[in-house]
Amino acid sequence: STVDTDAPIRMRTYDLAAASAEQRAELLRRPVLKSDEMIAKVKPIVDDVRTRGDAALLELTAKFDRAQLTSTVVRPPFAPETMQIADDVHEAIDTAYENIYKFHKAQAEQGSLAVETMPGVVCSRFARPIARVGLYVPGGTAILPSTALMLGIPAQVAGCKEIVLATPPRPDGSISPEVMYVAKLVGASAILKAGGAQAVAALAYGTETVPKVDKIFGPGNQWVTAAKMLVQNDTDALVAIDMPAGPSEVLVIADHTCNPAFVAADLLSQAEHGVDSQVVLVTVGLSDERIAQIEEEVDAQARALPRVDIMRQSIPKSIIVKTRTVEEAIAFSNDYAPEHLILHLENAPQAVSAVENAGSVFVGPYSPESCGDYASGTNHTLPTNGYARQFSGVNTLSFQKHITSQEVTADGLRGLGPVVATLADCEGLGAHANAVRIRLQALSQS
Ligand code: NAD
Repeated sequence: STVDTDAPIRMRTYDLAAASAEQRAELLRRPVLKSDEMIAKVKPIVDDVRTRGDAALLELTAKFDRAQLTSTVVRPPFAPETMQIADDVHEAIDTAYENIYKFHKAQAEQGSLAVETMPGVVCSRFARPIARVGLYVPGGTAILPSTALMLGIPAQVAGCKEIVLATPPRPDGSISPEVMYVAKLVGASAILKAGGAQAVAALAYGTETVPKVDKIFGPGNQWVTAAKMLVQNDTDALVAIDMPAGPSEVLVIADHTCNPAFVAADLLSQAEHGVDSQVVLVTVGLSDERIAQIEEEVDAQARALPRVDIMRQSIPKSIIVKTRTVEEAIAFSNDYAPEHLILHLENAPQAVSAVENAGSVFVGPYSPESCGDYASGTNHTLPTNGYARQFSGVNTLSFQKHITSQEVTADGLRGLGPVVATLADCEGLGAHANAVRIRLQALSQS
């Protein structure tokens, strides 16, 4: 191996005050996603599933996941022997479920409203679930019950009728029992044993056995992401996706009150995700000695962690950005728009009010990202790649549409009608104006 295991595991340090506009822009940049190239690669797979359905799905699952299946869809009730898990994991999943459920249930109650805009003119808005949703839980070998919880609970809370949980099977054809157990908890109506672009295609178009869904959610590798982008743009599929996904990210802001060991632990919890993980530490008025302490902690903790080999690749690509004030640090973070933002600051709760762009914020020394990743209650499916500027993380509203409605009384139309008729005339739409005038006339004669 060419990896030098004696070399210190170090980040790169920059001083924001000394950076030119170009250098600042460089610090904010993510790795380029070759989405066009990937979309071209997944297209044959998607087309194959679309045209040949289950037969293609089974062949592709044999090819990419080395699992020989005779059917890909499992419907409840799920066999108890497929859901056997350790007692402590069982309890942890149950507690996480309760917290995530509580937070997402509270969201369901929001968003419905009725407003009388003029006397006799009542406008309202109410939520309805998206009927059929597909939840992609990545990884044939990885065990990801947390992703199943984060996607399944808001779907359940929103009242989606068909909840299809797709995940690649293990070579023996099974799904991890932890994911099976979560599928039961969230009331999944089907499990699709397939992964990658073929799973996304099956969800988007449906097959003989896989129900077609209206919206596809969930993280995944570049095959999954590209397939989601492809089907989203096909008007025949008539399917939506949650959001564009890229490598996971954290931005940590730390001042003199920070605990260097906590800061290092947070940086590493992101760095272990993958070699392309994006890790940024923004220091506020920290001396070089204090920064060195954090760096030593990063190196020492990384060496003791199981995924040190991934960190050896992700940490050297990570950056430390030195700033002088909290305002400067938050301004940099707002420009970066991180998926996760952790505030190791003396006045962390106050700093939150200045946050404009971030997927989810972790406030103070005892709020590690891990809590939100698993069990505090917030969702962990969050916008990456700077999309926190315009996207929210997955939430209960992601699984609903809001329908608006209006009810105008006779008096209401007397007040509103002339306004509408004038605007319709102005736009040259005589039938629109007529639909109002014919009623106003009838009212004046009654
Ligand atoms: P995955 O389920 O995303 O992908 C596995 C599938 O990829 C396989 O079933 C196969 O169909 C397809 N595939 C792989 N190589 C292929 C090839 N050469 N040609 C065609 N298809 C191919 O699982 P993964 O690969 O382990 O990736 C997991 C991803 O999910 C990672 O990128 C990880 O960062 C991300 N992730 C994100 C979260 C989150 O919540 N943000 C959580 C866990 C994982």
